[in-house]
Amino acid sequence: MSAKTRKTTRPVRIADVVIGGGAPIVVQSMTNTDTADVRATVEQVCDLARAGSELVRITVNTAEAAAQVARIRDELARRDCAVPLVGDFHFNGHRLLSQYPECAEALAKYRINPGNVGKGSKRDEQFATMIEMACRHGKPVRIGVNWGSLDQELLARLMDENGASPQPLAADAVMREALVVSALESAAQAQKWGLPADRIVLSCKVSGVQDLISVYRELAARCDYALHLGLTEAGMGSKGIVASSAALAVLLQEGIGDTIRVSLTPEPGGERTREVVVAQEILQTMGLRSFAPLVISCPGCGRTTSTYFQELAANIQAYLRSQMPLWREQFPGVEDMHVAVMGCVVNGPGESKQSNIGISLPGSGERPVAPVFVDGEKTVTLKGETIARDFQRIVDDYVRSHYGAGGSAASAAKKSKTIPIKVAVQG
Ligand code: SF4
Repeated sequence: MSAKTRKTTRPVRIADVVIGGGAPIVVQSMTNTDTADVRATVEQVCDLARAGSELVRITVNTAEAAAQVARIRDELARRDCAVPLVGDFHFNGHRLLSQYPECAEALAKYRINPGNVGKGSKRDEQFATMIEMACRHGKPVRIGVNWGSLDQELLARLMDENGASPQPLAADAVMREALVVSALESAAQAQKWGLPADRIVLSCKVSGVQDLISVYRELAARCDYALHLGLTEAGMGSKGIVASSAALAVLLQEGIGDTIRVSLTPEPGGERTREVVVAQEILQTMGLRSFAPLVISCPGCGRTTSTYFQELAANIQAYLRSQMPLWREQFPGVEDMHVAVMGCVVNGPGESKQSNIGISLPGSGERPVAPVFVDGEKTVTLKGETIARDFQRIVDDYVRSHYGAGGSAASAAKKSKTIPIKVAVQG
């Protein structure tokens, strides 16, 4: 079963990236460096872009940060990193965008949180200033509502109206409605102040999976703005990954969502790029986009003789991903390759034959040899200390001979319809 047809939304152009209007779903991420620290921010933006982030958001929270944004953009250009930068503004965005026009110009898009643009009579004035800056510099805006910073005046108004209703809704339903109304009313205001609809992206982020699904279904039904999906404060490790995958998968399957971010809390010392990899894997495993060759590996069991199989699966996966910045340019189509790494003869040969390349490592009681299958045929049997190195070389040779100018990309692509290219590692 494939994903439902994507919901039609207005395309929004952000530099060379298009969000919505049927364009491929865009992966984005956010730095966690101090933006005033140019070197650290540039390094992390480059890392995220190299991992495949197609937009990178940076915090613009102080005058010091705003003053460095143009330098960051220039330094990225010197490093050949063209990824569009999105500025994240809260509380003082109206001042920073007005006082630092070079910052307003260097950013490709602004993220504005309507719950944090100002209180009381200041709210509209400050929000209008930010929209005016977006219009002046020709920039699109994401109106990003967040559960944790919901416009309290709007919520109070809806709660009062709900209290007076003959059939009042439960408080959590009013909260969800307030998120949707905040996004839609803010977008309508922005349009009234001159920002075209095709420069508006909406998001309504919450931290609960069921709440997120309800809110986005409602939002998608009530507007045709491009939508940014993400579960906010998803958490750390497997919890964050599972929660984000569960929420995003349901919505993406319903054709909702034009760009995604996976908001993982990094493990201490962990890679910020993890959120990019997870976002890509959600889209790729759902068959919505391809980013890097897939490694199919079995879980291992009592037949697995050692951790060698796990190490080979992990190493080949890391190797394939590390090659993608280069391979993406040189060997188009390689992102659809499948590689199987399997642990024993039970499923090893079968799964390996279904992949572009597969290796079936010896299980307990088997001869210490590892047959390799290429395009469904057994081609060689590896043994000894060099299995991992030899297997990697076979993968390299396959990539060079099947993709890009030197290979037969067309025939590989054709073949991959019947025999998907996989690398399998079995234990
Ligand atoms: S392929 Fe072999 S080692 Fe891997 S899970 Fe299946 S039986 Fe176990």
